[in-house]
Amino acid sequence: MKGIQQRFFAGALFALILSGALFSGVEIVPSARAQSRGDASLIARAQSITGDRFTAGTTTPRGARVYFIVRPRAEVLRAIDSGLSELFAVARRRGYRARLNHSDYTIFIARADRTRDSSGAYSPDIAVGAAQYAGSVYDQGGYVYAAGMVLSTQSCAFIIAEHARDFGRISNVARYEGEHLVLYHNDRALYSKTLDHSGGGGHPILQ
Ligand SMILES: [Zn+2]
Repeated sequence: MKGIQQRFFAGALFALILSGALFSGVEIVPSARAQSRGDASLIARAQSITGDRFTAGTTTPRGARVYFIVRPRAEVLRAIDSGLSELFAVARRRGYRARLNHSDYTIFIARADRTRDSSGAYSPDIAVGAAQYAGSVYDQGGYVYAAGMVLSTQSCAFIIAEHARDFGRISNVARYEGEHLVLYHNDRALYSKTLDHSGGGGHPILQ
């Protein structure tokens, strides 16, 4: 368990993804409050949440910014691009126009706090504060495991975990976190309606 800034999650909105074959675990979308501009601020917040130090960055072939601990393999960067590309194509078909370029997005690849889920399946996830999940079946003792977490809706930034394989899962997480961000900038009503999966519903939201 890495350092967790519980205060950051106070009053945050949590999104829950139901277990699935390709994508399982909890996924988190914080509220839009306290989000500021600039990579320095984003990096500081990503570090406070994950307990990692993001000292290096790169861009994917299509131009998304990526901050990492261990330099990601080319397959990882391509997987991020692929997930976002699929999302943007679906979004364009719906007539959305805002934030549909890879260069609009910033991804933090954090150390995984676990690599297998409770069923033993490969599932690199990050541990984040449980907040209102405290006491639920997801509560691991003050924290929950998340496949991904939206870091900033305004800046289109999210956190995923390092993967050594199963890069298709990275594509899915990138697409799914990206869905919340695309909706935030293109359809605020649907964004609000789909932010919290705890009442049912998951990803993909846009098909
Ligand atoms: Zn979600």
